[in-house]
Amino acid sequence: MTRHGSVPGVNDPQTWDVIVVGGGPPGENAAQYAIQGSDRTAVIVEKELVGGECSYWACVPSKALLRPVEVVDAANALPGVRGAALDVAAMLKRRDYFAGHDDTSQVNWANSVGIDVVRGTGRISGDREITVTTSGGGERVLRARHAVVLATGTTAAVPPVPGLREARPWSSRDVTNLHEVPTSVAIVGGGVVACEAAVWLRAMGAEVTMLVRGDALLAKNEPWAGGLVAERFAELGIDVRFGASLSRVSRAEVADTGEGHVHGSPVELTVDGRTLVVVEVVVAAGRVPQSKDLGLPEDALSHGFVTVDDHLTVPGYDWLYAVGDLNGRALLTHMGKYQARICGAVIGARAQRRPLDGPQYLDLADHDKVPQVAFCDPQVASVGITSAEARHRGITVETVEYDLGRVSGAALQRDGYKGRAGLVIDAFRDVLLGATFVGPDVAELVHAATVAVVGEVPLSMLWHAVPSFPTVSEIWLRLLEARGKDS
Ligand SMILES: Cc1cc2nc3c(=O)[nH]c(=O)nc-3n(C[C@H](O)[C@H](O)[C@H](O)COP(=O)(O)OP(=O)(O)OC[C@H]3O[C@@H](n4cnc5c(N)ncnc54)[C@H](O)[C@@H]3O)c2cc1C
Repeated sequence: MTRHGSVPGVNDPQTWDVIVVGGGPPGENAAQYAIQGSDRTAVIVEKELVGGECSYWACVPSKALLRPVEVVDAANALPGVRGAALDVAAMLKRRDYFAGHDDTSQVNWANSVGIDVVRGTGRISGDREITVTTSGGGERVLRARHAVVLATGTTAAVPPVPGLREARPWSSRDVTNLHEVPTSVAIVGGGVVACEAAVWLRAMGAEVTMLVRGDALLAKNEPWAGGLVAERFAELGIDVRFGASLSRVSRAEVADTGEGHVHGSPVELTVDGRTLVVVEVVVAAGRVPQSKDLGLPEDALSHGFVTVDDHLTVPGYDWLYAVGDLNGRALLTHMGKYQARICGAVIGARAQRRPLDGPQYLDLADHDKVPQVAFCDPQVASVGITSAEARHRGITVETVEYDLGRVSGAALQRDGYKGRAGLVIDAFRDVLLGATFVGPDVAELVHAATVAVVGEVPLSMLWHAVPSFPTVSEIWLRLLEARGKDS
C-alpha cells in the first residue's frame, strides 16, 4: 500500500467513488455525507448487519430495556400514580421491535440515498482497493476513486482470567439480547456498560454482583458521580465489590443452544480467594478495536486503534480515513457519527479539489468536548473534562456543585428526587470546561452544557440564559448563584 496510489478507471463496475468498510452508524453517515449533493457513488461493505453494534447489540437494545425501568421507578415515586410494574415479556418484545436482527430497513435507507451495500468482510488489498471475502469464501475486489473509510468498530474485550473465556461469559451482546433472566449474575466491570446492565438485570429480578477492579463506578467521571450511583445501587440491592480480584472462573458444562445462546451449569468465580457461584457472568471490561485483519501497516495503529488526524485521515494516506470506535477517539455512537459528518465533508472537498477551510472539516469536539450519558440509575450525564483532569493540566480550576433535589422542577418531577450537578470552570478565562449531572432523567440536561463548553460561553453571559420555571434546568441558575457566593 503506497501513500498516493493511482485512481481507478471511471467505467469499472467494481469501482465507486467512496468505499466504507463497516456499516455501523458512523460508516453509514460517512458514506452519506461523502456523496450527498453530488453525483459521487458510495458502497458500504458489511460483514454482519447494516446498522452495526449500536442498532442491534448496544445502544438501542440497552436503552429499550432501561426505559421501562425508569418509568416504573418514576411512577412509584409519584403519589397519585398507582400500580406501575414491569412486564418483562412485553419489555423484551419492545426491545426486539427496536433491535430485531434484520437490517432490511437500513439497507433500503442506504439504497434510497444512493449507497450500495456489499455483504462480506473487507480488507485493504492495495491503494484505494478493498478485497471482500463473502460468507461462502468467495472474493471480490472493489476499487475507490477518491476514498476508503474504515469504520469497523470494536468488540468486547475478555480479560485474561484463567477459565473465563472457556466458561463462555456473556458479552454486552448477550446481555442486551437476553431472552431469559438468569436468577443470578456476576458483572465484571464498573463502567457504563456494566452499570447499565446491572440496572436492568436487577429490575428484572436477577441477583447482581458487580466485580469492580478499581475503587469507583464510572471512574472516568467526577468521583462524586460514581459515589451517588454506588449509593443507589446499594439501595437497589446490587452487590458492588470494589477492589475485586477475579483470579479463576470455572464452569463444568457449557453448550450452545443455537443462535449464539449458551446454556450451562452454574459458573464458579474465585474472587479475592473466595468462591462466588452464579448462573451467568457478564464481561463488561472494555473494547478491542477490529483492526487486526484490515491490512493496515503497524505504523497506522496505536494500541490497535487506527491513528487519524483532525480531518479523520490516516496520516500519510490522502485516500484513507477512519471513523467511529475504530479510531479510539471517543467510543460513542454520536461522536462516531459526528466524525463521519466531518470525514464526509473532507472527502467531498478533496474530490472537488476545494481547500479544507473552515471548522466543518475539523474534528474539534473530540478534544475535551465529548458529551456522554450513562443511562443507569441514577443517570450520569457529562461533558468536557473533569476537575482532576483540568488540575492535572495546570489550569486554575473553580468547581461548583449543587443538590439537584433542591431545585423546584426536580422536586415536582418526583418525590425524593436525589441528584447532584457540578461545573468545572476555567477561573482565568471564565468559561466552562466540564459539567456533570447525576439524577433521574438528567440525560436531557447535558446538551445545554455541551453548547456552553463548545461555544466557550463566558459564565457572566450564562447568567442571561434564563431557565424556565419550574424545570430541572433551573439547576443552571442555582449553580451560578452558588458560584457567586463562593467567589
Ligand atoms: C452495551 C453497549 C451500550 C452502548 N450504549 C451507547 C449509547 O447509549 N450511546 C452511545 O453513544 N454509545 C453507546 N455505546 C457505544 C456504541 O455502541 C459504539 O460507539 C458504536 O456502535 C460505534 O459505532 P461503529 O460504527 O464505530 O462500530 P460498530 O457499531 O461496532 O460497527 C462496526 C461495523 O463494522 C462491521 N465490520 C467489522 N469489521 C468488518 C470488516 N472487516 N468488513 C466489513 N464489516 C466489518 C461490523 O459488523 C459492524 O457492523 C454502547 C456500547 C455498548 C457495548
